[in-house]
Amino acid sequence: MLRSLQSPSLWPTTMLDTLPCTLSLRLLENALDAIVVIDEDGAIRYQNGAMQSLSGYAQGEALGQPLTGLLPANLAGQHERYVRAYLDSCKESTVLGQVREFAIRHRTGEMVPIAMKAIDLGIHEGKRYFGAFIEDLRARRRMEAEREALLAQLEKQALSDALTGLPNRRAFDAEALLTCARAARSGALTCVGIADIDFFKKINDQYGHAAGDTVLVAVAGLIGMASRATDFVARTGGEEFCLLFPGLDSDTACVVAERIRGAVENGTIVTPQGEQVRVTISIGLAHLAPGAPFNEALTRADAALYEAKHAGRNRVRTG
Ligand code: GH3
Ligand code: MG
Ligand code: MG
Repeated sequence: MLRSLQSPSLWPTTMLDTLPCTLSLRLLENALDAIVVIDEDGAIRYQNGAMQSLSGYAQGEALGQPLTGLLPANLAGQHERYVRAYLDSCKESTVLGQVREFAIRHRTGEMVPIAMKAIDLGIHEGKRYFGAFIEDLRARRRMEAEREALLAQLEKQALSDALTGLPNRRAFDAEALLTCARAARSGALTCVGIADIDFFKKINDQYGHAAGDTVLVAVAGLIGMASRATDFVARTGGEEFCLLFPGLDSDTACVVAERIRGAVENGTIVTPQGEQVRVTISIGLAHLAPGAPFNEALTRADAALYEAKHAGRNRVRTG
């Protein structure tokens, strides 16, 4: 034995020949993966400890039972047909040796996602036997789901403003790109707006920064409620909100912007200290011609906002 280990050329073709059967079985019994052996009639002839845990059936209950009892109905029929065809035709198998993913039914009814590799074990006392290694994919699937949820959460955080929950500048830029592309393709009208809270610095000075934050959240809510479901509202700066009005010409966008302005003017905001605060916003609007650069429209909206401020604030201007 020692000599054969030192000289690989003298090893038997399969190392199993050197291993007593009881040792091999002990190895199978303690494998991390589930292992099951079925005969050519599909009856379970052996299952290791991991397979017992995976299926929920103890050795005594599983022995002699059809493996198809663990498979969903569509796979059970397919499995039986497949084994029959394989035994009858002696053709090379396209399934044996391949890793396939599906779900098996646990005793409790839970469908357990698994990866399975089945092999032909050969003929023993006139009967063909098949073996399968089965990997429990539950932990991996759970980790994948957690990773996806985390990614979705990170993506949401990356695109939203932490204070108001509105989309942020990055989200607005992405939406603007999409809106421009759609407008260029369809020739649809679009307007862009910039809303800015009037004399917001005074709110902070008079009531404190925390109250200022409450006002920002409330104004975000009022703008959101007064805009249409198809409009896009983002907080793009300190007390500045950018608006997209897809499908609206300048006149109609002006009506919607006027409604938003009025909603903020008439909204009552209560600070954490219980003081009632009233604020107003000024809005600059610009029409976005199909195919025209978005930044150019945004610059016109900014100029219109400047005009609205200079004309006395709390008003809408179109550039
Ligand atoms: P105008 O009517 O010309 O827009 O005047 P304004 O006072 O609103 O504009 P200004 O740019 O002078 O001041 C904006 C203020 O907004 C200054 C800044 O401290 C405050 N601000 C910016 N971001 C936040 C924030 O997240 N929370 C609070 N509470 N204040 C903020
Ligand atoms: Mg301001
Ligand atoms: Mg500002």
